[in-house]
Amino acid sequence: MTAAGQGAGDGGMLVCAPLRVEARALRRGLGDRGEVIRTGYGPARAAEAAGRIGTSGHRALAVGGVAAGLTGDLRAGDLVVASEVTGTGMAVACASAPLLAAELRRAGLRAQVGPVVTVDRLLRPGQHAAAAAGGAIAADMESAPLLGGAAGRPAVVIRAISDTPDHPVVSPHTVTGGLAALRSLRLAGDALAAWSAACGTRQILLAAPRSFCAGVDRAIEIVELALKRHGAPVYVRKQIVHNAHVVARLADLGAVFVEELDEVPDGAVVVFSAHGVSPQVRGEAARRGLETVDATCPLVSKVHAEARRFASDGYLVALIGHAGHEEVEGTLGEAPSATVLVQTPDDVAALRPADPGKVAYLMQTTLAADDASAMADAITGKFPQARGPGSDDICYATTNRQRAVRAIAARSDLILVAGSANSSNSVRLVETAQRAGTPAYLVDGPENIELGWLAGASSIGLTAGASAPPALVDEIIAALSGLGEVRVEEVTVATESVQFGLPKELRN
Ligand code: SF4
Repeated sequence: MTAAGQGAGDGGMLVCAPLRVEARALRRGLGDRGEVIRTGYGPARAAEAAGRIGTSGHRALAVGGVAAGLTGDLRAGDLVVASEVTGTGMAVACASAPLLAAELRRAGLRAQVGPVVTVDRLLRPGQHAAAAAGGAIAADMESAPLLGGAAGRPAVVIRAISDTPDHPVVSPHTVTGGLAALRSLRLAGDALAAWSAACGTRQILLAAPRSFCAGVDRAIEIVELALKRHGAPVYVRKQIVHNAHVVARLADLGAVFVEELDEVPDGAVVVFSAHGVSPQVRGEAARRGLETVDATCPLVSKVHAEARRFASDGYLVALIGHAGHEEVEGTLGEAPSATVLVQTPDDVAALRPADPGKVAYLMQTTLAADDASAMADAITGKFPQARGPGSDDICYATTNRQRAVRAIAARSDLILVAGSANSSNSVRLVETAQRAGTPAYLVDGPENIELGWLAGASSIGLTAGASAPPALVDEIIAALSGLGEVRVEEVTVATESVQFGLPKELRN
């Protein structure tokens, strides 16, 4: 595959800095990793410069310099990476801003993403609020016209704050603010170079199915309906599904997430998460007189039922899963004296059932299919009469998403999996891709993507765990498209039509 950003006419990055001091700071930070030119002060000179740079052979354009901060949380030396630039009759979006800002933060710099406005004269004390009226967080005098010279190339604007509403440009802080800003511009060099190296046209292979499964859709709907029916707050024991974005959105709507029932006030409504709970937790809720709504995925409930059935028939149940996962804790609780967690072949070797002819095994629903079947083989190898679940415990959503990521791995230089670190099925997708020989990373959003991963990656595979919202995938594609043209190809291995009904508590 051709490395992204390489090829005929590759002229590297052009960095436009209006003032000599800004150009010097950027040059010192970048070294020979980009060509820094001085474009002149103010919108008129910037517009002239844009005409000249429009035909340069560079493959990416960066605008760098100092700016006025417009919000109270910005201080001198902070960096603002423009999500869009408006002013002088222009509005230009810079889609890769979250990627560059995150790289700056990883380098230890304070960086924010937000709109920047280009104004036609220096802001005087008292003029900041008017400049911020359109939502801008920083103001400069050149970026909008300079971006006119991008001519379709990837472009980014990075501005270091030299003055703020509290410390305007004509104040005792002018010199210290300016020096702090120039220092940050210099320190931004490595991140800017990484941004430039990541630029290029690329293909995105989109795995299908991906993102929400039927159990997650149902669990989220249950919390929303419970809030509608009972009003806020509605308590949710554990994260309803393992995704930070989902949890934050529901918390905004009035859900209160707790670890254990002792954090729930008497008489409150509590939702059990999609991962299920043990009978002990249900018993505790009943004793407390709490009103409960059960969002346990029906496919998890099926495993619970199997555990109860095997245990009541006198079997030792070997539960293949990961210690500490909420689903595993819930299933273990169904028949604690008859169930043993097995995580490794050594755990299987250590099994000492009272009756070796009465061993059964079950699985956590979100395991890697290969790992789980190797463990099942170890159990049946040691106990040939061992019985497994009636139908696969690893759920359809886990299976389909693993098949889909395998299908794109061979054609990808890199796989990105959208999902949170505590999401078992998302982590398994990363492992599945890595086993196929492709570097793979779990990201909770564009801000977790390291620019160094993208350099040379002209084909990127993208998927999302069953608890990750589809919007995350769109955000990642949007951010990548700011690094150069992207062609998106969806690779579908299965079509899902599974739907689960609501629990009886919410049916009417
Ligand atoms: S991943 Fe599978 S078991 Fe878990 S909620 Fe989704 S459908 Fe249910």
